[in-house]
Amino acid sequence: MKAAALVPMIGLEIHVQLKTETKLFCADRNAFGAAPNTHVCPVCLGLPGALPVLNARAVELAVRTALGLHCQVRRTSIFARKNYFYPDLPKGYQITQYERPLATGGWLAAESGDATTIRIRRVHLEEDAGKSLHDRLPNRTAVDFNRAGVPLVEIVTEPDLTSPAQARAFLGRLKQLMRYLEVSDCDMEKGSLRVDANVSIRAPKAAPGARTELKNLNSFANVERALDFEIERQRGLHARGRGVAQDTLHWDEGRGEARSMRAKEESRDYRYFPEPDLPPLILDPTWIEGIRADLPESPESRRARFQEQYGLPAYDSEVLTADRGIADYFEAVVAGAVEPKLASNWVMGDVLGRLHQTRVEIANAPVSPPRLAELIRLVADGTLSVPLGRRVLTRMAERGATAAEIIAAEGLRQIQDKGQLQDWIAEVVAAHPQEVARYRQGDSKLLAFFMGRIMQRSRGRADPRRASALLQAWLNREA
Ligand code: MN
Repeated sequence: MKAAALVPMIGLEIHVQLKTETKLFCADRNAFGAAPNTHVCPVCLGLPGALPVLNARAVELAVRTALGLHCQVRRTSIFARKNYFYPDLPKGYQITQYERPLATGGWLAAESGDATTIRIRRVHLEEDAGKSLHDRLPNRTAVDFNRAGVPLVEIVTEPDLTSPAQARAFLGRLKQLMRYLEVSDCDMEKGSLRVDANVSIRAPKAAPGARTELKNLNSFANVERALDFEIERQRGLHARGRGVAQDTLHWDEGRGEARSMRAKEESRDYRYFPEPDLPPLILDPTWIEGIRADLPESPESRRARFQEQYGLPAYDSEVLTADRGIADYFEAVVAGAVEPKLASNWVMGDVLGRLHQTRVEIANAPVSPPRLAELIRLVADGTLSVPLGRRVLTRMAERGATAAEIIAAEGLRQIQDKGQLQDWIAEVVAAHPQEVARYRQGDSKLLAFFMGRIMQRSRGRADPRRASALLQAWLNREA
């Protein structure tokens, strides 16, 4: 059997921190970046006698997540204790859901515009652990419990992904959906989205081999790299007639390799049992339906709608729906009586370019959609040329003014007056007799040179079409 014929089967477990004000079982703030151990209390520190109280907002966000992933939300789910010893787990157990999770049986498109779907096995609610800090005290490990008890949803896929690149693309779709649903900011650098991947390889018509689990994948790029590495390793073992041992592997980003983490502990026994301090979670179907009715349009259907309703190319639709705020912004510009493709060009080019440069979120864009719409209309009706429009937009962003205000204050209106244009042309050709001669000998590329000088002299205000026509008429007439 050729190694290449062995098909990878990849499943993902994704932990997403929910964007709540407070933790899952107590009133401490769910806030990233605070001084260590400032958002803690007897409940999340696991002190004797403290009792958990479930955060309703976390349940709501988890249900939103599950419905967005087309899962069936269970009317009754059960919290369980997952017992293990770890320094950042003060209770000695994690409250999670095990046999009866919040939701099961969903799906999400693998890639944009791709009919392939990846099945979601389950979505459940659980609490995060604290954080061990190895870089704060010399030769010691410190523990910060601010994160202990922060609400998580764990999303588990079926092993439907067949390549590392597809796994990476799928994670991008998932993150995009979570952000549309406003359940999490999914910032991997802050640990609010964390991924474990399991992978096995299977010969056609054979049972899959043993699977290994990859941990410590701190970026989507690393998910892809680690899976590439591990699939090659498993293929190599297979080629030498050796089996793959079930194992948990730690991805070492610096070395670009995965190493066995705890082979000896692989028979993990978490001794799950129902959490005695929490009753079963019973959800009212009417409440669930209310959350469903409140779901935003999905990125996938919005992308398709942008192509149909506005006649945009697939590429534009993809860029404009990458983020819900960008899509909202674009639609607000179109609502200002602007042709959709024009609106798309301005938003994708000038607006997103500037936001990217200045590292500003679209929600805080300095130019509002109605003001951008006004500017685009002024370009469309010829009051401004495209380059002038760009300059006006820059000034609008800097000064917080409207296009009309900038044009009035700075005299930036496009100049179409024949007399004025001919004056500039005369000045430019008089200053460059050699270039005029060369143009007349057939060097037609010099037209762009003359136009550049005319635009410079007019401070960008000359109507380029009109000026170009007049310039060519002059050059040909005097020949
Ligand atoms: Mn988990």
